[in-house]
Amino acid sequence: MRQHQAGRAASRAGRVPRLPRHVRRALRRQTRPAPRGSAADHRRPGHARRAPVAPAVRRGRGHQRRILRAPHVRRRTPPFDLMQRRVAAGEVALGAGLVVGLLRGCRAAGVELARGCRVRRLIRTDGRITGVEAERDGTPWRLHARRVVLATGGFEHDPDLRSQLLAGPLSHPVTPPVQHGDGLRLAADAGAQLSRTGEYWSWPAFQAPDRRWPDDAGTPQAQLVMAERYLPHVIWVNAAGRRFVNEASHNCAVSFAGLDANTHRPRNLPAWAIGDAQFRARYPVGGAPPHQPLPDWLPGADSLDKLAALVGIDAAALQHTVTRFNAAVDAGRDDDFHRGETAYERAFGDATAPHPNLGTISEPPFFALLVHASAVGTKGGARTDHRARVLDWTGQPIPGLYAAGNDAAAVSGRAPSTAASPSRPH
Ligand SMILES: Cc1cc2nc3c(=O)[nH]c(=O)nc-3n(C[C@H](O)[C@H](O)[C@H](O)COP(=O)(O)OP(=O)(O)OC[C@H]3O[C@@H](n4cnc5c(N)ncnc54)[C@H](O)[C@@H]3O)c2cc1C
Repeated sequence: MRQHQAGRAASRAGRVPRLPRHVRRALRRQTRPAPRGSAADHRRPGHARRAPVAPAVRRGRGHQRRILRAPHVRRRTPPFDLMQRRVAAGEVALGAGLVVGLLRGCRAAGVELARGCRVRRLIRTDGRITGVEAERDGTPWRLHARRVVLATGGFEHDPDLRSQLLAGPLSHPVTPPVQHGDGLRLAADAGAQLSRTGEYWSWPAFQAPDRRWPDDAGTPQAQLVMAERYLPHVIWVNAAGRRFVNEASHNCAVSFAGLDANTHRPRNLPAWAIGDAQFRARYPVGGAPPHQPLPDWLPGADSLDKLAALVGIDAAALQHTVTRFNAAVDAGRDDDFHRGETAYERAFGDATAPHPNLGTISEPPFFALLVHASAVGTKGGARTDHRARVLDWTGQPIPGLYAAGNDAAAVSGRAPSTAASPSRPH
C-alpha cells in the first residue's frame, strides 16, 4: 500500500513511477548476467548486450502451467540431452523462461489475468478512458479501471491493415496469429496520434508446407531463417542469380523492400538460400537436421544448372555468382557485401569452421530454400510520451490511455530491427 502511494506521488510529480521492489525482484530473477568473456558479455567492447534466461520450473496449476507450453523437442536437435533433462524437470528457458519472470512479476503485483477475452471497445467518461468492453468466451464483459494500457501486439495478421499501411512486402509473419490490429483500431478510435504505421521488424523466414499454428484457421507457421544465412557454405540470390545483401547482417531482410524501377515489383523477391553438401553435413536446412535427407518440399539437384532450372533462377548468372563467392571465401573476405565482418555476425557463425560465416559452395548436391519477407511484428501504433501515455494529434496525452510493445509507435524510429546494432571488429 505504501509503495502504491509512493507510485502515485511520483506520478503527481510528473516522474515515471517505479514498480514496487518485490515486483522488480520477481522480474529480475528470471535473467542472469552473461558469463564474463563469453560471446554475450556486453562488457567486452563491440559485443551485444544479452541477458540469458535462467531455466525456470513451471509451477502450479494456474496460469503459468496453462500459458507456458514445454518446448517441442525433436530427436537429434542439439543439445538434445540438456533439453530432455529440462523437459523432464518441467523447466522452460528462452522466451518461455522470460515469461515466467513476467508472470511472477504480475502475481507479485496482484494482477488478475483473464484468458479467452478480446477487448472490443474503450469506455470513455468525460473525456477520460475509464475501462474496456470485452468479449469473454462469447459473453460481453465491461471492465472499469483508472488506466488502460493497449498491448495487443501489432497488426501483422490482419491482411487488410497490412496491405493498407505497410510500406514493404510482409508475406510470412513468424508471430502467432493473435495480432489483428485491435490496439491500433482502439487507439485510432480514441483519437490517438498514429506513427510508424508503414514499418515492421523485418526478418527472413521459410515456410514448411505442413507447418501450421494450432488455430481454427490452421494459419501457416513460418520460421525464422537462421542457419541458412549466418553459417558457411550458403548464399542468398534473387531470380537474376545475383547476391543482393550481406546474408548474415542483422537487417538483411530490409533488402526485400527494394523495388525494381521498371516493374515496381520487389527487386529481390523471390529469393533463395543456395547451399551445398558441405552445409548439409554440418547444419540444419529448412528445419531438417544435418545428414538427414532433404524434406520433399525443398528443391535439390546435383548441379547448379539443374537447380537453377528447377526453381527459375538465371543459371549462367548463378554459376558466375557462386564462382565469385568461392573466390572470396578462398581470399578470406567478402569484398562485395562484407559478410562476417561484425562481432554480431561472427557470434552467430560457426566458431569451429575456418571462417565462421564463409565457406565455398562447391560440393553437390545443392539445395535452394525459398526465403520469404517476414517480420517479428509491426512497428506502428499510438504515439506515446516518456510515460507511455498515448498522445492525441495535438500532442496532448489522452487521459487514462497508455500503450506498450508493438501497439506503441516504435521508439527506435526508422531503425529496422530491435537487436544489437552491428559493430565493426576492433
Ligand atoms: C520467433 C520470434 C523471435 C523473436 N525474437 C526477438 C528478439 O530476439 N528480440 C526482440 O526484442 N524481440 C523479438 N521478437 C519480437 C517480440 O517477441 C515482440 O516484439 C513482442 O513479443 C511484442 O510484445 P507485445 O506485448 O507488443 O505483443 P504480444 O507479445 O504479441 O502480446 C499481445 C497479446 O495481446 C493479445 N491480444 C490481441 N488482441 C487482443 C484484444 N483485442 N484483447 C485482448 N488481448 C488481445 C494477444 O493474444 C497477445 O497475447 C521475436 C518474435 C518472434 C515471433
